[in-house]
Amino acid sequence: MTQRIRFGAGTLDAVGDVVAELGCTRVFLLAGERHATAVARVRSLLGPAAVGRFAGARMHTPIEVTTAVAPRVRLLRADAVLAIGGGSATGLAKALAARLPLRQIIVPTTYAGSEVTPVLGETVAGVKRTRRDPRFLPDAVIYDPDLSMTLPWGLTVTSAINAMAHPVEALYSPELVGGRDPAAAGRAADALVLLHDGLRALREDERSRSARAGLLRGAWYAGQALASAQMGLHHRLCHVLGGTFALPHSATHTVVLPQVVSYNAPAAAVTMGILRRALGVADAPRGIFDLAVRLGAPTSLAELGMREEDVAAAARLTLGSTNYPNPRPATTAEITRLLAAAWHGARP
Ligand code: NAD
Repeated sequence: MTQRIRFGAGTLDAVGDVVAELGCTRVFLLAGERHATAVARVRSLLGPAAVGRFAGARMHTPIEVTTAVAPRVRLLRADAVLAIGGGSATGLAKALAARLPLRQIIVPTTYAGSEVTPVLGETVAGVKRTRRDPRFLPDAVIYDPDLSMTLPWGLTVTSAINAMAHPVEALYSPELVGGRDPAAAGRAADALVLLHDGLRALREDERSRSARAGLLRGAWYAGQALASAQMGLHHRLCHVLGGTFALPHSATHTVVLPQVVSYNAPAAAVTMGILRRALGVADAPRGIFDLAVRLGAPTSLAELGMREEDVAAAARLTLGSTNYPNPRPATTAEITRLLAAAWHGARP
């Protein structure tokens, strides 16, 4: 399925055209209070076609939120959901569209990348499960970098490093590194460069709109990389830590990524070469870790509030879950060691 994508400053103003192109007439908004200005703009552009709003999307898409909102959306006879926000708002849009006949329009304000993947992660009774289905892929995305200008520095950094994890994991897959899909491999590498350079430019000038645009484009390409490959050990670990131990999504990715890259490095020479070139570093795992340190991001699971005694349980849950591809197989003991390093924030 192809998506309609609009990219550029001010593209939120095209929301009416996008809704019309999809043939929709009753749009339900998913947007938190902090997006009040964008919501007001959308309401003025859509007029009576904006039929309702929910502001309480939560991280890791708990199923009880979805089942609480779905009857309202049905009652209002909405034919589209329009999410303004990060991956949490997008996740709720996907979860609703999985249950009701709804088109999805996403206006991303973080770098999560979920808007271009057919992947839905939902948490049921403390367990996060992901499903992949072309029906989950949003119909349209409006990338307006102006809406990401307010993202605080801390979230900007962790969200961008979360986005980096998508091409990193995609670049382990035989399709991409084996040369079978050079265009997708090139895009994945481009995503890394855009995200890395965007962070550097934003650090020099926190008000830079071009840096924000570069980061958002990087997030777009990163999401496409995730869509083109299966998720491996890194994403699996983060789903366990987020779903069962309620750790914050992008910060968890930031802490775990260098540790998993370090674990996989001996079995992924080609990928490490791509990472070194994209980030301009001599060693990929250390390069990612040092980037987080330099930008003031968390480097340990302890900082995120995880208890040390939960490390072993998280390792068991990771291994006990469904199969996932990874360049280097892992035993429970190896995952426990990896998680312990992440808990302490050890430099790889
Ligand atoms: P989020 O959507 O929860 O946003 C984090 C915080 O940032 C929230 O408090 C939000 O209100 C705030 N925020 C968002 N945009 C802002 C802005 N422009 N200015 C100021 N504050 C802003 O977090 P996230 O990291 O974007 O998304 C995490 C969720 O996305 C998780 O549930 C994760 O599983 C999911 N996800 C799914 C996929 C997929 O392909 N299925 C990919 C990535 C992430």
